[in-house]
Amino acid sequence: MNFAQFPRRKYIYTPTPIEPMPALSKRLGKEVSLYVKRDDLLPGAGGGNKTRKLEFCIADAMEKKADTIITCGAVQSNHCRLTLSWAVKEGLDCHLVLEERVKGSYKEDASGNNFLFELMGVKSIEVVPGGTDMMGAMEKKAAALEAEGRRPYIIPGGASNAIGALGYVSCAAETMTQLNDMHLNIDHIVVPSGSAGTHAGMVVGMVGSSSNIPVSGVNVSRKKDVQEEIVYKLAIATAEKLGVKTALDRKAFVCFDQYVGPGYSIPTDAMVEAVKLFAQTESILLDPVYSGKTAAGLIDLIRKDHFAPGTKVLFLHTGGSPALYAYMDTFRK
Ligand SMILES: *Cc1c(COP(=O)(O)O)cnc(C)c1O
Repeated sequence: MNFAQFPRRKYIYTPTPIEPMPALSKRLGKEVSLYVKRDDLLPGAGGGNKTRKLEFCIADAMEKKADTIITCGAVQSNHCRLTLSWAVKEGLDCHLVLEERVKGSYKEDASGNNFLFELMGVKSIEVVPGGTDMMGAMEKKAAALEAEGRRPYIIPGGASNAIGALGYVSCAAETMTQLNDMHLNIDHIVVPSGSAGTHAGMVVGMVGSSSNIPVSGVNVSRKKDVQEEIVYKLAIATAEKLGVKTALDRKAFVCFDQYVGPGYSIPTDAMVEAVKLFAQTESILLDPVYSGKTAAGLIDLIRKDHFAPGTKVLFLHTGGSPALYAYMDTFRK
């Protein structure tokens, strides 16, 4: 797989660590060994998975001579925080369109990522109701900025297009090299499945490097069938862009949707338990919206003996801990 054919900024020091989680594995009391890939430790203010995708997306923007980035996300979006962070570093303006998916959830003075938008000097924030056509809203913003003589570039939500997903194809290749260096034979990888670039990229990377470790996604909002189809479609587009010739098997795209709870970003008891377990056994900070629910899924699957005894499972920690501070009441209840 040739990543050098695409414009790319160098934001990351690779590989991010792969660590065993012996205390958590022991606490769960099953013969499953857990490992974690620490993409929460990626650079960019506050860390997390979007930095890998933004290496490609921001490079594309700069090659197209953009001076302004527009992107979108939910009110506590890690993606918006990281896009802003890299735009600031590159000397680009950054405008955000935030979708209020839970009515009344946007608070101008909220903590967490919202505070960091302000701290890092976001140029504007437009809040729109849940269900808004986000691409349409960003295009409107872009037209207004163009009329002012700016050169805007739109990065879609989560940087989950075929350009951004290359970051996770590359992560899969990095992971394989690292596992081989460690002589660590992982049986299964578990990832969050949101805007889908992470999940799709990891599958394409496993197939493209003939490694074929199964990758399962834990949904954070959508139903299983809908999400699997979104991941599959993005994977096909990404593989095509990269020139991966091996056909993608629809059956390799597996999502679990029973850990979403009442909806995107709405806390569940299992998420709270998972965040506390990781913090109190491995000193690893998860987040309430993505890695916390994904870890809740991982823990439940282990408890239900979904994985055979002796299985080694790698959890991809995608970051997000700055959002914890917007949810303190949830954890203190
Ligand atoms: C965006 C995000 C995810 C989901 O990744 P996608 O590529 O959008 O599916 C997972 N964890 C965190 C912390 C995120 O911010």
